Amino acid sequence: MESGEGFDRERHVFFMEMMYELLPSEYESEEINRITLAYFVVSGLDILGSLDRVSKDQVARWVLSFYSRPDVLEPGTFYGFHGSRTSQHPANKAVSKYNAGHLASTYCALAILKTIGYDFSNFDSNAISASMQYLQQPNGSFIPIHCGAESDLRFVYCAAAICSIINDWRGMDKEKAKNYIISCQSYDGGFGLVPGSESHGGATYCAVAALRLMGYIEEGRATKFTESSMIDVALLLEWALQPNFFQRQASDGGFQGRSNKASDTCYAFWVLGVLRILGAHQFIDRESLRSFLLSCQSKWGGFSKFPELQMPDLYHSYYGLAAFGLVGELGLTPLQVELGVTMNPGT
Ligand SMILES: [Zn+2]
Repeated sequence: MESGEGFDRERHVFFMEMMYELLPSEYESEEINRITLAYFVVSGLDILGSLDRVSKDQVARWVLSFYSRPDVLEPGTFYGFHGSRTSQHPANKAVSKYNAGHLASTYCALAILKTIGYDFSNFDSNAISASMQYLQQPNGSFIPIHCGAESDLRFVYCAAAICSIINDWRGMDKEKAKNYIISCQSYDGGFGLVPGSESHGGATYCAVAALRLMGYIEEGRATKFTESSMIDVALLLEWALQPNFFQRQASDGGFQGRSNKASDTCYAFWVLGVLRILGAHQFIDRESLRSFLLSCQSKWGGFSKFPELQMPDLYHSYYGLAAFGLVGELGLTPLQVELGVTMNPGT
């Protein structure tokens, strides 16, 4: 597909439907993240206004089958959703130390349920909210799984999104989590995944979206950024827009997730998402971002990471659609940016 052509909605619906039916063998190594891949498909179809292509009951049953919720909750163990059947093995009632629910899988599972309009009054979230505290570290960050793993902003975001969806914040010490997020803001205004690391578009999204979900950032915060703030919003906007130096939005119209890197489809969502939450999205060149995204649109439907790649992948296809939704493409349902679920889930 040439970049001069328009947004091909039907072809993207076709691509997502194919992914719903059967994932290509290249995704075998991602088996452990199956519920995350399912989130990209279901939410992608929702953005496209085509949720009618899936059976919502079937999807809900499948997602709920990954919920680990034993009768007795062991202290120190996190009970959330498993990412796939292999991480759920053996299928008995006991949940072994290494057979654990994962924060990212739990977020994706709940986001799918919300997307399809599942009635959460039927959902017993107590196992999640009562056990998530065991994942929060003394510095306020989260590990994703109770048997130990890296802790960084990604999992602080997942924890905040989970609390927001189940409307129960018992599993998180918000003050500690907020202080951890603040400690990740770098000297240039962006956020690194951990304190002291290089600013990165994805990490910056996780920081800003989590603060918004936690109630620490008002909608459209940029309009008030001169007030004293817990994070340096003026510096953050400078990082996101780079108006005086070189622009975050590169000459090809796309966004770079890190300085001096090539524009990449997924950063269109991460960086534009940050600007949208701060109410500063009007300062980007919408048309040139649209042309960049179109240059990554695949002739088979979906999006590739870079314009010169032909093959689409599910991750960049989803974030390409999410970014198109944010730039206001006609016929698309935009995401509620900070949550990753559309404004009118279940319709
Ligand atoms: Zn990417």
